[in-house]
Amino acid sequence: ETAINRIAAGEVVERPASAVKELVENAIDAGAQRITVEYADGGKTLIRVTDDGCGIAGDDLPLALSRHATSKIDGSDLLNIHSFGFRGEALPSLGAVGRLTITSRAQGHDGAEISVIGGKHAAVKPAGLSAGTVVTLRDLFYATPARLKFLRTDRAEAQAIGDVIKRLAMAEPFVRFVLRDVSGDGAGREVFRAEAEQGDLFDALHGRLRQVLGREFAENALAIDAEREGFHLTGFAALPTYSRGSAVAQYLFVNGRPVKDKMLMGALRGAYFDFLSRDRHPAAALFVDCDPNLVDVNVHPAKSEVRFRDPGVVRGLIVSGLRHALANAGH
Ligand code: ADP
Ligand code: MG
Repeated sequence: ETAINRIAAGEVVERPASAVKELVENAIDAGAQRITVEYADGGKTLIRVTDDGCGIAGDDLPLALSRHATSKIDGSDLLNIHSFGFRGEALPSLGAVGRLTITSRAQGHDGAEISVIGGKHAAVKPAGLSAGTVVTLRDLFYATPARLKFLRTDRAEAQAIGDVIKRLAMAEPFVRFVLRDVSGDGAGREVFRAEAEQGDLFDALHGRLRQVLGREFAENALAIDAEREGFHLTGFAALPTYSRGSAVAQYLFVNGRPVKDKMLMGALRGAYFDFLSRDRHPAAALFVDCDPNLVDVNVHPAKSEVRFRDPGVVRGLIVSGLRHALANAGH
């Protein structure tokens, strides 16, 4: 693999949490119902994602590792995509920055395995696996010590992984998520678990909210449901009296994707302007849904920003939707 490829890969894979995000998104796109994520040493030495999704046929494993190869686009309309991935960059990027092994079994096929080291992949081998996919990434950035130096402590990297998992778990309440720290030689320590939620979407989201943000928040949260000019806002927001201290607990989604968008976060703050002091962050899990043509989620592959065609409308929807719910609750 050339240096050019490694540098390009570094932009998609900044740290262990970004590798976890790509791998878990792939598992979700594969229709997985159960996703288990294991890591060691903050993800620096090991990241392993196991799913029960559709799997990859042995013959397709080399293709899955080649740049810009994706099974998720039919070539018709780039904006109308409902899967997380569509660039075909994650697996080749991960293969360029760590020791990557994919073991997979698609229905009607035998299990198979492929390994990549330094961007070069070995031949496909048979592998025993009942279904789904296991992706193992070891020794992230082993070939680029300069990048290793920029990683934070194991604890901070592990926290970032937990944050990614919680965001994706909020986005996919019907999927079971388990996160385990397998550092050292013990059996591993479960860091987070969310069983698959049941019922309709509203119930499922509320149940998942309890898993992710805790029972106290879930039981005191205001249900939000508002609409404006083709944008739909749903979710839950904290009562002004509920506070998680200075911890940021803001889960924002656009068309089902977790985002950390400045405009959306600013609108959320704006809605609570009269209630919260400057160092407090309103806790919320909010979903903005709209026609895919009204938003560009394609701004940057790794940074979860979006660009709305009319940001003013979205901002107004969030501020008025939340203020309306707060007023109804007597605030
Ligand atoms: P993208 O997700 O943008 O398509 P990736 O590099 O992340 O690109 O993955 C390449 C391809 O490998 C995917 O399009 C998909 O066909 C296949 N793939 C990756 N991970 C999985 C998985 N966990 N289960 C099934 N197929 C997968
Ligand atoms: Mg992908």
